Amino acid sequence: DELSRKLDVIITKDVLPQEQLETEILWKSPHAAQGDDGVFAKLTDADIVAEMGEGLYAVGGLFSQVMFGLDRRLHELAVQKFDADSFHYPTLISTETLQRAGYMSAFPQFLMTASRFHSDVDTYDSFTSGIASTDDIGKHIEDHSEHIGYCLPPAVCYHVYQHLSGSSLDKQSIAVTTRGKTFRFEARYRRSLERLWEFTMREVVFFGDRKSVVEQRRSMVSAVCDLVDELGLAGRLEVANDPFFFNEQIAGYMQVQRVMELKYELCLPVEAGRSVAAGSFNVHGDKFGSAFGISDADGRTAHTACVGFGLERFAYAVFCQHGADPGAWPDALKALVSSHGNGSAGEPM
Ligand code: ATP
Ligand code: ZN
Ligand code: MG
Repeated sequence: DELSRKLDVIITKDVLPQEQLETEILWKSPHAAQGDDGVFAKLTDADIVAEMGEGLYAVGGLFSQVMFGLDRRLHELAVQKFDADSFHYPTLISTETLQRAGYMSAFPQFLMTASRFHSDVDTYDSFTSGIASTDDIGKHIEDHSEHIGYCLPPAVCYHVYQHLSGSSLDKQSIAVTTRGKTFRFEARYRRSLERLWEFTMREVVFFGDRKSVVEQRRSMVSAVCDLVDELGLAGRLEVANDPFFFNEQIAGYMQVQRVMELKYELCLPVEAGRSVAAGSFNVHGDKFGSAFGISDADGRTAHTACVGFGLERFAYAVFCQHGADPGAWPDALKALVSSHGNGSAGEPM
C-alpha cells in the first residue's frame, strides 16, 4: 500500500535512478569473507545475544567483548592519532539542538522523543486513578503527558556541536570523541543485530578550517581501513548518501551529497552478496559550524566532519565473517577479546 511504499522509499538507499547511483569503491580489503550463515542462531543459542523486543537486543559475553574491543581500538585511534578529547554525554539531547542541526526536517521518520507527565497533582491523581480502568495504557500516558524539550539521540555528534556552540577553536583543528546510546525508529528491523531501534555509537567529530577537516577525514578513513585489514575482515569503502525524508528537493541534495563525496561508508559483508555499513565518514562543510556559532582559529565559521560506528553492527559483521568460535579467528581478532581480561562484559571508555 501507499504507506509501505513510502517507507520503502525512506529505507531504500537506491532512491535515485540506478544509473546515477554507480557505487564508487574507494578501497577494498585484501581479505575475503569466510561467511557463517547460522551465526545469529549460534549467538542466541549461546545466550550471548537475547531478543528484548523488535530491534532491541541484550548482548553479553563474547559479543560484547568484540563490541567494546572494537570500541577500544577506535577510541585509542581517535586519542592517539587525532589527540581527541574524550567526553561522556547525557543520553538525552535537547530538542532545540536537534532543531538547530536541521535534524527535524531531514529525518523525522527516525526521531524518538522524550515526554513526561504534566507537572501537577491533578495529573498524577487522574493518571493513577485511571490505570485500573484503562484498556490502553499507552493512550492513557499520552493523555497526561507533554513534550519536555528533550529527545533520544539519533547519533552522538549532536551533543558535541551543542557542547562547543559559541566557541572559537584555539588550534587549526580539534577532535572530540564520544560513545553513547542512539535511537532510530527504522521502518523495518530484521532478526539480527544489523538494524536496531536502540544501538551504541562511537563517534569522532572534527572541527577546523575546511582544509584540515577534509584532511582529518581522509586520515581517519585510512586508519580505519588499516584496522579492518589488521583484523582480517573483508570490507570496502564506498561513496554513499543519507536516507533523507524523501521529497523532490532532497532528491537533488542526495545527488549532490554523492557527487561531492560528503559521505563514505565502511561496508562489511554479512552474507554472500550483502553488506552492511559499519561506519560512516561525513563532511558537513560549515553547516554545523554556522548553526552552532563555532569559529575556527582564524575567526571564520568552522567546518566539521563526523565519523560514526555502530558497534553492535560492526561486531555482528565480525561474527558473520569469522563465526562464533574465537579459536578459529585470526590472531588480531583474538587479541581484540583476549586483551579484554577475564571475560567480563566490561564497557571501557
Ligand atoms: P544505514 O544506511 O545502514 O541506515 P546510516 O547511513 O543511516 O546507515 P549513519 O547515520 O551514517 O548510518 O550512522 C553511523 C553508523 O551507525 C552506521 O554506519 C551504522 O554502523 C550505525 N547504524 C545506523 N543505523 C543503525 C541501526 N538502525 N542499527 C544499528 N546500527 C546503525
Ligand atoms: Zn555524526
Ligand atoms: Mg539509516
